[in-house]
Amino acid sequence: MVSSSLMMLCILTAILTVKALVSPAWCRDATAPRQAPLPVICIDPGHPSETNPGAAVQNGLREVEVVYDVALELKSILEDEGVAQIVLTRRFRGYDAHHPVIVTNRKRAEIANDAHAFLFLRLHCDTGKGSGFTLYYPNRQGKKFGVTGPSAAVREASEKAAVAVHKGMQGVLVPATLHDNGVKGESATFVGGKQGVLTGSIFSKVPTVTVEMAVLSNRHDAVWISSKEGRHQMAQALARGVTQYLGK
Ligand SMILES: [Zn+2]
Repeated sequence: MVSSSLMMLCILTAILTVKALVSPAWCRDATAPRQAPLPVICIDPGHPSETNPGAAVQNGLREVEVVYDVALELKSILEDEGVAQIVLTRRFRGYDAHHPVIVTNRKRAEIANDAHAFLFLRLHCDTGKGSGFTLYYPNRQGKKFGVTGPSAAVREASEKAAVAVHKGMQGVLVPATLHDNGVKGESATFVGGKQGVLTGSIFSKVPTVTVEMAVLSNRHDAVWISSKEGRHQMAQALARGVTQYLGK
């Protein structure tokens, strides 16, 4: 009886020893599947910047606040879905004329560059004539502070990103909801017309897409994006745009 128990103990010890030799702890750790880090999406709620605080009231709305609200909702959706890590270029909602804090357009691009973002997604609202949403990408180089950019590789990647984000957004924003102005080059913008492309694009080393989400001076657009449902729908549309771009 004693000898058979001893034998069992010996066999058990031998099995454990062999197992430890074959698969030691350090070896198990090294061969365990590692999760790849999630891609970084840099969401840039436009304004206040060196050129415009974004605080003008149009149909009761301030661009600086609308874009921040949508940015936060988009951040939550993408994080909840576990498809991306989010970096924001600003973490305050409004503009205070008594204590003005701005984030320059160059700084916004540098935040995206430093984060090695897969996409520098810039959120704005338009003003003036027309209605609906429009996507812009840098279609040529511009010059600012003695710097010329972006590179051909960034321009090409930005165009592809803009087309993908637009495709994703189209699935959510049917024309009855919001007019679709499609994808355009930044040379068509006011700033791009003067200096080639937007300042943020000149300094961007990662793909960059600017979304003018709605036209705040347009009554229909303003009513839509001022509603909780409208902002949620816009955040959902942008999220589908990002996942389309990421190939998820
Ligand atoms: Zn703007």
